[in-house]
Amino acid sequence: MGYLDNHPDENGYFGKFGGAYLPPELENEFKKIKQAYLNIRNNHEYINELRRIRKHYQGRPTPVYYAKNLSAMTGGNIYLKREDLNHTGAHKLNHCMAEVLLAKHMGKQKVIAETGAGQHGVALATAAAYFGLECEIHMGEVDIAKEKPNVIRMKILGANVVPVSFGAKTLKEAVDSAFESYLSDPESSIYAIGSVVGPDPFPQMVRDFQSIVGIESKEQFFEMTGNQPDNVVACVGGGSNALGIFSAFIDDENVALHAVEPMGKGTKLGEHAASLTYGSEGVLHGFNSIMLKTEQGEPAPVYSVASGLDYPSVGPEHAHLKDIGRLTAGTADDAQSMEAFFTLSRKEGIIPALESAHAVAYAMELAKQRPHESILVNLSGRGDKDIDFVTEKYGFGE
Ligand SMILES: *Cc1c(COP(=O)(O)O)cnc(C)c1O
Repeated sequence: MGYLDNHPDENGYFGKFGGAYLPPELENEFKKIKQAYLNIRNNHEYINELRRIRKHYQGRPTPVYYAKNLSAMTGGNIYLKREDLNHTGAHKLNHCMAEVLLAKHMGKQKVIAETGAGQHGVALATAAAYFGLECEIHMGEVDIAKEKPNVIRMKILGANVVPVSFGAKTLKEAVDSAFESYLSDPESSIYAIGSVVGPDPFPQMVRDFQSIVGIESKEQFFEMTGNQPDNVVACVGGGSNALGIFSAFIDDENVALHAVEPMGKGTKLGEHAASLTYGSEGVLHGFNSIMLKTEQGEPAPVYSVASGLDYPSVGPEHAHLKDIGRLTAGTADDAQSMEAFFTLSRKEGIIPALESAHAVAYAMELAKQRPHESILVNLSGRGDKDIDFVTEKYGFGE
């Protein structure tokens, strides 16, 4: 039995983290989702349909690329798992296609979700279009302003985008708002959570749906090098792209796993979203994990230049893996990530998402410290969505 076989336990716990803290009216719905998932995960038809979709619709497998110029520049060995080449430009479609396929099997008519950078919204709207389901996406007004192209994409794809105008108007409030909407009609809709967060069974489901990234990477990396990577690096918002690639290596103790959190503008509370690094145990959005809190114990305001990373908590499995010493929590700040964004663009001709640029920044540092080791980075998405923001900040073309 490997690690994945007994994590989470039957109650959805990874060590002391995870679980399902739900309002009573949702308990039964989440039990139904869990049962449907446990039934379907071993169903050959479901698995074969997902395989076909991944190959013929999403364009998987995505390649692993040896970043020769970045490696030469840092003196190390950096490989990129190109999730930016997955259909819609990020890893999120991996879990969205599977979630909406599950929703369809459960007879649901509508999928509801939150989105930060708009990537989950676009991926879910894409999956909903593919399967012919209605799609409702909740998004903070701050993020709407920052991520225009993705907002337009969702609308083109036929989704209903609901602006969220309370609180800090970013990801956390979008989750609150989406939950509220789901509560009003849990029978015919499903809340398709966008990361390895939320109540059981979502952290497990989303991890399992994303594990294709790790399975492919491990095989591809071995084919290229005859070895395992010494280090695997991924950025962490909720933690889905990270667990997707980490999951294949958890039992391989010689492979170091690095979860990179956004250090934003600085180390003060409110300036970053480094939950694993600075957080403490607490329940948010229906699960127990490590979160950033104010002195009153409320979820703290968070910030990152990458909208997809500014969440005050983190997937419970990351909290557990850190707890047992299996992963290292690292950070990259705004400035380092912006620098990595331009470096990868100019050295390799790959424009990364600002989220993914955090992993690249960290990997470049690691490459300098460990020149003899190999580093596999999950390049979770492409940066096209960020060009408006970059234009505003750097004034290209003006
Ligand atoms: C959403 C997003 C992330 C952060 O989400 P995780 O669940 O932590 O993976 C990272 N990269 C990209 C490109 C994203 O769209």
